[in-house]
Amino acid sequence: MNTSDYISQVDKWSAHNYHPLPVVLERGEGEWVWDVEGRKYLDMLSAYSAVNQGHRHPRIIEALRAQAEKLTLTSRAFHNDRMGPFLQKLCEMTGFERALPMNTGAEGVETAIKAARKWGYTVKGVAEDRAEIIVCEQNFHGRTTTIVGFSSDEGSTFGFGPFTPGFVSIPYGDADALEAAITENTVGFLVEPIQGEAGVVVPPDGFYARTLEICRANDVLMINDEIQTGLGRTGKLFCADWEGDRGDIMIVGKALGGGVFPVSGILANSEIMDVFHPGDHGSTFGGNPLGAAVGMAALDVIRDEDLVGRSNELGSWFKRELESIDSPHVDHVRGRGLFIGVVIRDESGDARPFCEELQARGILAKETHEQVIRFAPPLTIEKASLEWALEHIAEVIQGAAVAVA
Ligand SMILES: *Cc1c(COP(=O)(O)O)cnc(C)c1O
Repeated sequence: MNTSDYISQVDKWSAHNYHPLPVVLERGEGEWVWDVEGRKYLDMLSAYSAVNQGHRHPRIIEALRAQAEKLTLTSRAFHNDRMGPFLQKLCEMTGFERALPMNTGAEGVETAIKAARKWGYTVKGVAEDRAEIIVCEQNFHGRTTTIVGFSSDEGSTFGFGPFTPGFVSIPYGDADALEAAITENTVGFLVEPIQGEAGVVVPPDGFYARTLEICRANDVLMINDEIQTGLGRTGKLFCADWEGDRGDIMIVGKALGGGVFPVSGILANSEIMDVFHPGDHGSTFGGNPLGAAVGMAALDVIRDEDLVGRSNELGSWFKRELESIDSPHVDHVRGRGLFIGVVIRDESGDARPFCEELQARGILAKETHEQVIRFAPPLTIEKASLEWALEHIAEVIQGAAVAVA
């Protein structure tokens, strides 16, 4: 079978809920992937930052293999010997007292919403069924019905209502709007410190710090979604570290699974986490020994290979280089660490043709929200690979060949 056979097969047998680049991958190593035709590509998306440690990192694969030969799943009906060590490591690395393990990011967000609401009722004293959570416009927190219900993206919401009540939206980056939206029923403020899916949107300096202050002054939980921005992506261990503490509830996922296994969770101190009691929340796979072993290795790799430092250094250099490219098609470049968006001017059409041209040259990047090319390679990437990519990126974003489809 060739590339188009594989793509037709998926078209025939799957729901059509994605619009991937027309490349079919069969192997990966570090920052490189290979397609079924034997062509080699630089992965500059990293599965939306779930592959921060690079494809098939040997330590992570070894942890997976060794654990797969011992025990993979117990459910939470029994204990397993991997969950405790994993959660201790996660708490010690992040500075929270407790962690609650889940699998996908959306489950982590749902868990945070439940924790905040229950905290609101049992600790803050909000009247029954009145809890409100403030969110931001253009947010992306996952795909469950509750989560898409507070999305401002029509593509995410159309046809999926009715939605869960109890969410109030403010413009991203506007701390005054947060202050104005808080009522006696507000239990939390759910925010991405940089909005990833919205197109690597960096809020104004001081926004995160101010919202943290406002939350603390009003007895509102700061719920910090670091699923995409966390674990080194923005040049700090967590993006919140650029401006303040990590919030009252922090949500992690994606790279916590080291690119091999879905591992997510929430972190909080006991005052919040202890609102949960046996029977009120859970997940069959959450905290499973295979995911825990992988998660531990994923954290070790981030620490031992200084992926945070690499992201910061390579990212600042890469962003400067991108900014120095003189192109009529580029409006501006934004981002932090190795989390960068190149914003294409409206007059130059969508970002998609640029991504297709990059693909033809062996670079995989994906457009987000029509106008933005996101560059988020594995944090293990060699500088030489980025230098090679830069030459092609410069030609592609300067090129008239791809302009205005
Ligand atoms: C990807 C993402 C999620 C959802 O994670 P899934 O594993 O796809 O459910 C939630 N929040 C943010 C900020 C994300 O980037």
